[in-house]
Amino acid sequence: MSVGAIIVAAGRGTRLGGDRPKQLLHIGDRSMLRRSVEAFDRHPGVDVLVVVLPPELVAEGPTLVGRTARPCHFAAGGERRQDSVGNGITQLPAEVDRVLVHDAARPFVSRAVIDRVLDAVGTHAAVVPAIPARDTVKRVDRDRHLVTATLPREEIWLAQTPQGFRRDVLVEVMTAGGGADATDEASLAERAGRPVAIVAGEDANVKITTSDDLRAARARVAPGPRVGTGYDLHRLVDGRPLVLAGVRLTDDRGPLAHSDGDVLCHAIIDALLGAIGGGDIGRHFPNTDPRWKNAAGLDLLARTVEMTRAGGHIVSNVDATIVLERPKLAPHVGRITSALAGVLGIETDRVSVKAKTNEGVDAVGRGDAIAAHAVAMLVPEAG
Ligand code: MG
Repeated sequence: MSVGAIIVAAGRGTRLGGDRPKQLLHIGDRSMLRRSVEAFDRHPGVDVLVVVLPPELVAEGPTLVGRTARPCHFAAGGERRQDSVGNGITQLPAEVDRVLVHDAARPFVSRAVIDRVLDAVGTHAAVVPAIPARDTVKRVDRDRHLVTATLPREEIWLAQTPQGFRRDVLVEVMTAGGGADATDEASLAERAGRPVAIVAGEDANVKITTSDDLRAARARVAPGPRVGTGYDLHRLVDGRPLVLAGVRLTDDRGPLAHSDGDVLCHAIIDALLGAIGGGDIGRHFPNTDPRWKNAAGLDLLARTVEMTRAGGHIVSNVDATIVLERPKLAPHVGRITSALAGVLGIETDRVSVKAKTNEGVDAVGRGDAIAAHAVAMLVPEAG
């Protein structure tokens, strides 16, 4: 048994905006078409793919779809839907005996739905995933805008794709369908008197038709806020300056470090890197690299903020705690906060710097070390 998936993307509808057909519009980082193709390319039960495109786009097919793990062929769309599917079938290798036909406008089809259709097409010649209607369904006289009947809801199911067929049956019903214009292949099978089995579809397997659908689809994949934590500690020795966020606190006792030992900036850098899943400060600014010898913490922080921006995130807020026995930090907190806000590119009320002592406990409490903790929240850059 060999399974071919035909992804129908032959529509020319551009009403969702732009001059490209809607299946080429992006949802997040890739097009609706690409998402639909990926769903089948990743499914272990699918052997070969055929993508049906508007004739003028067939040459662009490989670029539009991108690299696939399975062989992917292209076909030109026809006048009607069944002509497009018919053209797709001709591209299937001879050994393919089961065919899934999917609308590219359903980019969220899950592996589970494909599984159910594939399982059922082992026993039934034609299979449709569907969900039961939950709203009360009315038949309407469209000219007069009047309800003519309320349909028994239990009998109403909403058909989705992929629809699955034995290849010979699909070819037969499409030929038998003759001049009829069908919105799905199952209805051709019904007209030909073939039983069509139902398996459970999914609410999430929506067809993107309206601009509201498109907006909801984009919201669904939009990156959310991200949070990260950071911590740093340095030993304190005599004769070194103590610098936090570029603000010099004293000259007589400061951190022993390869860099400037700015624990506050280092902790915030790790929080930012943590939020983007970007490793830690040692990976990006290794202390074995002479470039970072005596590097200012504020400068490394600025470079890190650039990394988060490159990934489409901006800093929403930062909260930090410095643990230090002396000197007192309170007189410096205002300047430290403004320096951080400037580099983070946010308002000062989104930067919190708190100071604590360690109550004489441990190395920090004895005045032999300084530590800092930080939490950073990043949000997707608008637009
Ligand atoms: Mg450090």
